[in-house]
Amino acid sequence: MKIGVATIGEIVWVLGIIAWYIIRYPFERRARRRRVVTDRSSPADGIGLASALFGMAILPGFYVASGIPKVADHPVNAWAVAFGTIIFAAALWVFRKSHKELGRNWSITLEIRESHKLVDTGLYARIRHPMYTSFLLMAVGQAFLLANWVAGLAGLVGFAVLFFLRVGKEERMMLEIFGAEYRAYMERTKRIVPYIY
Ligand code: SAH
Repeated sequence: MKIGVATIGEIVWVLGIIAWYIIRYPFERRARRRRVVTDRSSPADGIGLASALFGMAILPGFYVASGIPKVADHPVNAWAVAFGTIIFAAALWVFRKSHKELGRNWSITLEIRESHKLVDTGLYARIRHPMYTSFLLMAVGQAFLLANWVAGLAGLVGFAVLFFLRVGKEERMMLEIFGAEYRAYMERTKRIVPYIY
């Protein structure tokens, strides 16, 4: 049996998603044990998380399993799949490193936990939202790995909805809690792309 390039792209994507979950799981367990002191999660946040889940996991997962929507398939290119693999690997590296650096301050929604500290070192020294950078990289990787316009590009749409519904609120919450410290931190950092945005 010969495996085509399109199938290799799909296999890489599935393995990437499994690795993503293996990285995240221990942080989810730990986070559940810490008391929340400020909770800013809102319906908008729920919509953002649901969009990201739909565009980056459910829809592409359905495509990989069923081949639907076939009309949206486009020709595959081995270079695109190789590039997508590198980008997805970089995304997982940034994802893991940002979780480790945030440590006990991580949370899936907008909350402040007991004895929350402002992290501004490592990846956080240059950008305020490296975890969202890793989502963007994953979405770009997905677009190159899946040879289908709908399943490939859904990740970027899901990411954009999550990011823009959340980032302003998250920064306002951080400003409220950390005040001048966060304001100074904002002045020396960008949001998700070092030196650019
Ligand atoms: N936006 C960050 C963190 C995502 S997790 C990133 O993309 O890397 C979301 C939670 O992290 C928020 O609820 C907030 O409590 C916390 N948080 C965000 N930035 C932080 C920072 N610089 N230091 C400590 N906690 C932070």
